[in-house]
Amino acid sequence: MILSKPQISIIAPLYNETESFPRLIARLNAVMETSPLTIEVVLIDDGSRDTTAMLMQQLALTDSRYQCVFLSRNYGHQIALSAGIAAAYGTEALFIIDGDLQDPPELLTEFYQKYEEGYDVVYAVRKKRKENWFKRTAYATFYRIMKSISYVDMPLDSGDFSLISRRVADVLNQMPEESRFIRGMRSWIGFKQIGVEYERDARQAGESKYSFSMLQRLAYNGIFNFSEYPIKIITRIGIFTIGAALLYLIQTLIKRFIYHDVPQGFTALLFFIVLFSGIQLIALGLIGEYVLRIFFQAKGRPLYVVREIIRQQQRQPLTPV
Ligand code: UDP
Ligand code: MG
Repeated sequence: MILSKPQISIIAPLYNETESFPRLIARLNAVMETSPLTIEVVLIDDGSRDTTAMLMQQLALTDSRYQCVFLSRNYGHQIALSAGIAAAYGTEALFIIDGDLQDPPELLTEFYQKYEEGYDVVYAVRKKRKENWFKRTAYATFYRIMKSISYVDMPLDSGDFSLISRRVADVLNQMPEESRFIRGMRSWIGFKQIGVEYERDARQAGESKYSFSMLQRLAYNGIFNFSEYPIKIITRIGIFTIGAALLYLIQTLIKRFIYHDVPQGFTALLFFIVLFSGIQLIALGLIGEYVLRIFFQAKGRPLYVVREIIRQQQRQPLTPV
């Protein structure tokens, strides 16, 4: 029985990544061969419908440095990542990357250096994005809104690409949050954190697996899990509206009793009814977002179901059971 405890786990979730797979493996192999560290790679198949799972299976059966986790269906990037973090054996740190090579795995050395200097989280900060204008603006706006409303201090322009220490990974594994926003959870955990700038590459092959609605869900998870601001804003709008209504009432009374002017205003009436119906519906929707999250969390379902894990190496449990 081979006993091995890798120092580092590189974690990459894959969803229909057949096209970038060979390049990913080539680059990961090169990183492992040149690094003095002992490294395992954890690949997660997030219910791919193409040949990704098959390729992963072949790889895990022939190369003992790879551990492959197959989920029972497509759960989404954040959950797939969580499955990878839970499966990782790395004793020192976990290096989280995207499977489409937008995050260069070669940066491991630089990130690890920071870890050795005493940082528990080394996150990548995107200097430049090689994505289209719309996506870049949307991301930049989102991160800035997030930073201003969140109750945890989240760095600007940094995604999940990061190196986290074993103890941060252990905390993440203990966080039962159903709607996961890992970059926020990582900030919440604390310890010493530092950003490293890098240029985010364009996708190597294939298309983005994040649809607009998935990105929207991710953004909502960030906002509603890490901010109470939406609720506060409803209250403020309410107070403002009451104030405005009182002023309007005073003006109407003055007109009626001092100037004997009968108030007109069917159009204004209609406008305000429609306007405030809209505001009330938005307010309900915002509350609904929080209620939905309570609803999903209350069910207490597991975050994901693992179909199979393939790894050649028989490892000693890290903590005595
Ligand atoms: N991904 C995943 N499950 C999904 C969607 C994406 O595991 O449901 C993986 C995908 O294979 C990639 C990473 O998450 O390795 C980032 O996704 P993508 O590149 O599509 O997102 P983008 O970089 O466009 O934001
Ligand atoms: Mg990508």
